[in-house]
Amino acid sequence: MLTGIHVLLTYKCTFECDHCFLHCGSHREGTFTLRKLRDLLDEVEKIPTVDTVYFEGGEPFLFYPILLEGLRWVRDAGWHAGTVTNGYWATSMEDAEQWLQPVAKIGIADFSVSDDQFHSTKDADSPGSIASGAALKMGLPCDRICIAAPTVAAPSDSAVEKGQPVTGGGVKFRGRAAEKLTSGLPVRPWQELTTCPYEKLADPERVHVDAYGNVHLCQGISIGNMWSTPLSKLLHDYQAEKHPVAGPLLQGGPAQLARQYGIGPAEGYVDECHLCYMLRKSLLPVFPQYLAPAQVYGM
Ligand code: SF4
Repeated sequence: MLTGIHVLLTYKCTFECDHCFLHCGSHREGTFTLRKLRDLLDEVEKIPTVDTVYFEGGEPFLFYPILLEGLRWVRDAGWHAGTVTNGYWATSMEDAEQWLQPVAKIGIADFSVSDDQFHSTKDADSPGSIASGAALKMGLPCDRICIAAPTVAAPSDSAVEKGQPVTGGGVKFRGRAAEKLTSGLPVRPWQELTTCPYEKLADPERVHVDAYGNVHLCQGISIGNMWSTPLSKLLHDYQAEKHPVAGPLLQGGPAQLARQYGIGPAEGYVDECHLCYMLRKSLLPVFPQYLAPAQVYGM
């Protein structure tokens, strides 16, 4: 049952992190206007199961007045509002509190801060640390997201039994991460990658939506375009088994996606998402409306 709408407020970001799912960066286009945001939330009103609208990106604080207005509308509609930031704006505790006062006044259900080595090496003095410190001081419900570079961990007993390497760090190998962070990691034969481990493709609990209108099941797998077909109708009509990408993934994971479209991956892959992303990238010219936007694939 769909309960969450995740608004990709912008693909612009102050960073170009190696682990970014979406190939975000300072040069990226695709930012919601107030008008588009209002049109989206009008549609969300028609989906009675939704209780949360979350603003992310890219870096949503780059479009601060639009973010604040969006958070206000979501709160006024009676949904839980949330947002995530890398805290680039937190240059001191006093300044961070100034930035966060309007957010605290709105009253949101979740405020998350990305604070790890991908974003800053200043540890306790990192912008993320200052932002989360200020948020906690002001009583905002704050989480820190800390992702480490992938490492090969000592295999657990059960992994040894299965002969599987174990890769740690919390990175999901999609988007830029699949291209930048997989080199040198242990791989598995593609035929073994027979499930989608992270997304409920048959009955999604959340979707991501972007300013181009794409409604993502997983980053870069679109159900359709909500500016052409209303979001409520797209979601109502969605049947995973008929979707040209989600269907095979549901049937037999990325390995089935490869078989169905006659793609013979030659090498092993770090995990399901790594294979899935690389296959999807090669299928871009075949399904441009379902594998969108192309910039999520680094185009
Ligand atoms: S296997 Fe594919 S669809 Fe599933 S979570 Fe990984 S990248 Fe997303």
